[in-house]
Amino acid sequence: MIKKTVLVVGGGTAGLTIANNLQDYFNVVVIEKSKYKKYPPIYRVPLLIGLLYRKKTLKYILKRELLLANGRRIPFFESNVLGGASVINGCVHTIGSKSIWNNVLSNFDSDYHELIDSYNKLYTTHQGENNKINLMLAPQNEIDMAFILALNNNLVPTGDMNFSDGENCGPIYDTTKGFFRSSVLSLIQKKGFEVSSSEVVKRVLFENGNNAVGVETDKRIIKSDYVILCGGVIGTCRLLLREKKDKEAVNHFRLLDIGRGVQDHTNLRVNVTTKTDIGSLNEVFRSFRKRLSIFVNHFSGRHTLMVGTGATSGVHLDLNGDGKVDTRIHVVQFSETGRHGSDGKYFFDKPGFSLSITPIHPASRGVIELSGGDVTVDPMYLSNDEDIEILKLSLGYCLKLLRSEPMCSFVEEIVSEHLIESDPEKYINENIYSGHHLIGGTHDAIDKDFNIKGVSGLYVCDASLLKEYPASNIHSSVVLISDIFSKRFISKNSS
Ligand SMILES: Cc1cc2nc3c(=O)[nH]c(=O)nc-3n(C[C@H](O)[C@H](O)[C@H](O)COP(=O)(O)OP(=O)(O)OC[C@H]3O[C@@H](n4cnc5c(N)ncnc54)[C@H](O)[C@@H]3O)c2cc1C
Repeated sequence: MIKKTVLVVGGGTAGLTIANNLQDYFNVVVIEKSKYKKYPPIYRVPLLIGLLYRKKTLKYILKRELLLANGRRIPFFESNVLGGASVINGCVHTIGSKSIWNNVLSNFDSDYHELIDSYNKLYTTHQGENNKINLMLAPQNEIDMAFILALNNNLVPTGDMNFSDGENCGPIYDTTKGFFRSSVLSLIQKKGFEVSSSEVVKRVLFENGNNAVGVETDKRIIKSDYVILCGGVIGTCRLLLREKKDKEAVNHFRLLDIGRGVQDHTNLRVNVTTKTDIGSLNEVFRSFRKRLSIFVNHFSGRHTLMVGTGATSGVHLDLNGDGKVDTRIHVVQFSETGRHGSDGKYFFDKPGFSLSITPIHPASRGVIELSGGDVTVDPMYLSNDEDIEILKLSLGYCLKLLRSEPMCSFVEEIVSEHLIESDPEKYINENIYSGHHLIGGTHDAIDKDFNIKGVSGLYVCDASLLKEYPASNIHSSVVLISDIFSKRFISKNSS
């Protein structure tokens, strides 16, 4: 029997997960705009991905600037290599909250049990297992132990940071296997699908007005039975906004809600310098001997900071007291001014760490709009006052932790402590960065089969379908929903 052809637009997190699942049932072609199939192996060491962000000329990562309401411009990074954000991200893993997952999945006639089935199929904590995304717990040092003890003293129990159904704290999981990062590339056992790199999908082709029959790329026209858009929030919205503009006269396109309601997590850090050396990256960065030592230790199989990108332990908190976890705070084993050198500087000269705050359920929603040949992305951070209130509570909580035993015995200085206390809103506005967790933009345009409403043969599966955050970090959210999509797609279309 001749297999039907499926075009997957975007060889990123969702695209490769789906292609891997569909390859036995369909003739699958993945079209990826980046020309890079991989980057030098050294950057696969989780911590060393940071070096890619610091390069003067960016190659495997693209950078755009987002404009905040107060005129500040903050960096926003996108992947430019096969594997998408999965191969350049911060490696932090978590599944999130059962009740929110049930809410998200009810839109697709699915539930948390199906999600956990996918999780058990795709993820493992056993380092010997192949063709899964491997997880490792981050190494813990005296700062992590003090953080967890201080939290326990505040009645936050130690627990599994994979789940945020209630308050808990503990070591975080990284998507890491041994020396190297683990990503959606790790899932691929055999490549029974074609990947066409360096090819940009420009538009979707239709017959009879609403039947998707292929795509037009910058190189050719490709016919197919089904088109699955996995271009990420920006890529998929860009394509669909163009379609909508081209087909303004066609009723079902005019009615599609694309690019609205996008969200991103804000990331806010409280930087701390310490009285003594703690093995922080501030120290490692300054000393060739320490850099060599951490490198040798990592490749000798010791558990070092190189298994992640700096975050080591975390806490889920319900700061507004409504009975639901609303905030995740990480201990990050460095303190820096700006993010990724955006202030022209990196780590503080002294030893130090930071507390990194992610409000999990922002109320602010923004928009992606066509602008010239590209799109403008504006998550409208902090446009809803609720988000500022949660951040203020988080800052207060961080100060309380840092001033309490046993954390206070390490703290030399809490950077900008006076400002955090006297004018937290100013501190927030001057110091938030992107959490790099864009979601939404197509969530109201798709039906329970992930099909664009009113259009046949055209599907969306990537972070753009998420209407809310099931978790503080969304790589696994995208991987798991892509697995659920694949099962649904195979059962409906493979006969
Ligand atoms: C810098 C950064 C750090 C992050 N850190 C973490 C973390 O630590 N933990 C966590 O859980 N999450 C993290 N995330 C978020 C998470 O990794 C992403 O949300 C998720 O992987 C997005 O998956 P996606 O499939 O939607 O998009 P992507 O993985 O970005 O894939 C989209 C793909 O489509 C391609 N594409 C787009 N348009 C076209 C077109 N027209 N034609 C052809 N190809 C196209 C792109 O090149 C890309 O390869 C991070 C994200 C970033 C950017």
